[in-house]
Amino acid sequence: MATLGVPQNTIAVLQKYHFNFQKKWGQNFLIDTHVLEKIIRAADVAKEDFVLEIGPGIGTMTQYLCENAREVAAVEIDRNLIPILEDTLSAYDNVTVINEDILNLDIVKLAEERNGGEPIKVVANLPYYITTPIIMGLFESHAPITSITVMVQKEVAERMQAGPGTKDYGALSLAVQYYAKPEMMAYVPPNCFMPRPNVGSAVIRLTRHEVAPVEVSDETLLFAIIRASFNQRRKTLANSLHNSQEIPLSKEAIQESIQELGVPLTIRGEALTLEQFALLANIMKKKGTL
Ligand code: SAM
Repeated sequence: MATLGVPQNTIAVLQKYHFNFQKKWGQNFLIDTHVLEKIIRAADVAKEDFVLEIGPGIGTMTQYLCENAREVAAVEIDRNLIPILEDTLSAYDNVTVINEDILNLDIVKLAEERNGGEPIKVVANLPYYITTPIIMGLFESHAPITSITVMVQKEVAERMQAGPGTKDYGALSLAVQYYAKPEMMAYVPPNCFMPRPNVGSAVIRLTRHEVAPVEVSDETLLFAIIRASFNQRRKTLANSLHNSQEIPLSKEAIQESIQELGVPLTIRGEALTLEQFALLANIMKKKGTL
């Protein structure tokens, strides 16, 4: 099978199967071999690896993964793509295509059944409409994942790696950085896809921390505090936390906690580091009324 990363080959497959792109599923297929090679290198895919690919499309990147990894599981929601994948991946015996919504897939079970519970790598050109739920779902599943290397909308990649005090810094930055180390690997322009997306793209690698970078006694509370702090960006941290339904602490107890953290009461959430959010969560937890 000729590489699908060449536009003419992608067009030939699409025509052969009379395939209609589904906008609702974020279908923008890669048609640039350099970008495909870059993703495989960025993900550091090696012969011993088990790779989970989310949204294989017509199998363009899947072919590269099959060539470089030991085993590939590719999860695709669109059943019209399944017969196409059977054709484009027919040369490989190390791939399983699963027709499923990734958000409904039990990744812990997949890693257990297909890879004996050993660590897996995730590589994907993600459907942009559900980037955040997919990434958070992967982390929160606590499946054995060593790294997630994904193509996402450029602005989303920038938010994932942003630090305190920048305009891109927010709940997504903190959630991603709590679980992993983000590294920007490449910027990719719209003309590398068919059809062209309306936004720029970027490849980002998230390497799972082996040891959590902060210690929190209550992870759920940490994330409730983070969400509340960025829900109302222009408000002070104290007011944002007080206004949140998720934080059942009195105004006084919230103010005392912020003072114990050693920052001014006028501070905004966007100025706090992950370490400070974790400390604040531990202080608030100890206030005991939660
Ligand atoms: N990997 C292919 C490529 O690079 O050419 C296609 C990438 S395209 C941006 C995203 C793919 O994800 C599409 O094939 C789409 O059908 C699939 N997809 C969308 N939502 C999905 C979901 N919830 N679960 C699994 N796959 C999904």
